Parts: sequence; structure tokens; C-alpha cells
Amino acid sequence: MIDTHVHLGQLRYEDPGMSPSTMLRWMDRNGIEKAIVMAVEVPEELDYLVTTRELLRMTRRHRDRLLPLCAADPRHRYPGRFDPYPILNAYIGEGCVGYGENLCGLPVDDPMQQRVYEACDRLKLPIVMHIDWWINRDKPGLPGFERMLATYRNVKWVGHAQYFWREISAKVPRKVSYPAGPVVPGGRIDELMRKYKNLYADLSAGSGYNAITRDPEFGIAFLNRWKHRLMFATDKLRAKQDTSIIDFIRTVDISEDARRRIMRENAGKVFDLA
Ligand SMILES: [Zn+2]
Repeated sequence: MIDTHVHLGQLRYEDPGMSPSTMLRWMDRNGIEKAIVMAVEVPEELDYLVTTRELLRMTRRHRDRLLPLCAADPRHRYPGRFDPYPILNAYIGEGCVGYGENLCGLPVDDPMQQRVYEACDRLKLPIVMHIDWWINRDKPGLPGFERMLATYRNVKWVGHAQYFWREISAKVPRKVSYPAGPVVPGGRIDELMRKYKNLYADLSAGSGYNAITRDPEFGIAFLNRWKHRLMFATDKLRAKQDTSIIDFIRTVDISEDARRRIMRENAGKVFDLA
């Protein structure tokens, strides 16, 4: 299986994080063949950055299994003067397989962010989008994100995190990151998936796991329905971490076709892996 969302390096003051060797040993124990590794180049979510350049160095000897993404803070340089295109293009040349994690503390459709999306659109890259109340912030129902889906059609948008996943339900309680209980059908994720063929999602972290397990019957139908667009992922970033999603995706009662796509095939297509 392919884990489409992990982190290497120290990101929190109190935790050393995962090194390439501890990550590879953990992957071996869990039957994970390859992992997509996030760059962190903005300060909002974590204490330290793990830059694209660092990540390229850390993964250099393990590119058969650890595939880096690239990132750039859209606030670089004076307003209107930053062109991320040549930088991202060079990162792709060095082995990055997409853009992420986008953890920027700006509105999701901010003009500075759109310079990055524009560059990713030209390069036809996937972008892993963390969406919460501050990072890539948007109104309930994600209208700003929808405009980005509609504008940057060559980007494969990968939804992730609390304020993305809570939109699985048509009823979203205000300011709640991990809503519990039954999903009300007709949520925005279903609607956006139907409207935009360039929308994908990763099942990582508490947010993804909560969304597909809070209402088991709905979750199973959702996995079968969007089997072409969902990807197994853990958001592994420290040694001791709940990764219940691994056993869940191996055993949940979905079609074998859906399981194969979600555990591996979709990742291969989205990140263009050989
Ligand atoms: Zn992450």
C-alpha cells in the first residue's frame, strides 16, 4: 500500500519526529511500500519548518520508497513580486512529485496563494490542502475552495484536515473540528466530488478517520462511491501515534476494487508514480 501523507524531520519542539530510517522501519512493520512526504515551509501549524531542500536531502537515498513533495511560502518577497513557477519547476526536476503540504495561514483563495496555484496548474501538480479554521481558511461550505477547484483545473486538489472533512455532512456545527454522530447526506464533499473531477482527498489524521467512521454505514457507502478519488494516508509524524486507519482500510467492508484503488492505485495516478 502507499501512504500519501507522512512527515519527516523535527516539526514540534517536544518531539524529535521521524527520521528516514525510523519511517522506513515503521513502513516495513505495517506493509507500506511507499510514502509521500510533506514539506512544511510555513509557520502556522508547527514549531519548525522542514523545507523542500531539506526533504530532498533526507530522501535522496530512499527515492524508491520516500517521495518528497515541494512547497513555498506564498508570502515570499514584496507583494506581487514572487514568482513560484521556476522554483517549483526546479523542485520537480530534483524529484518532487507534487506540492504540499499547503499549511498557509491565509484565506484559501488569497491572491498570493493563487500565484502558487497558478504555477502548480502550469506544472499539472497535485496539491495537498490542509483546511482548518485558520489555515487555508474559508467560509462554511468552502465556497473559496470551490472557486479554486473551478479556476485551476489542471491541479489535482487533495482535500485534508478538519474543515475539509467536516463537510462530509450537510449539517456542519459551527466551530467544531471533529463532529460526531450521523452524517446528514448531501454534504459539500459529495457535491464538490461530483462537480469537480480534479478533487481528491486523503483519509489521514483524526479528521479523515473520524469522517469515515462516525457514521459507519455512510462511511462505507462514501468509500465505495468515491473509490477513484480517495487515498489511504496516515499523517505519520511522530513515533507514537494512533494510525487506526491502517487496520481500518484493510478490513472495512468495501468492495475489493475500492480497497485496491484507495490503498494504492489512486496514489499512483495522482502523484504519477511508476
Ligand atoms: Zn500533515
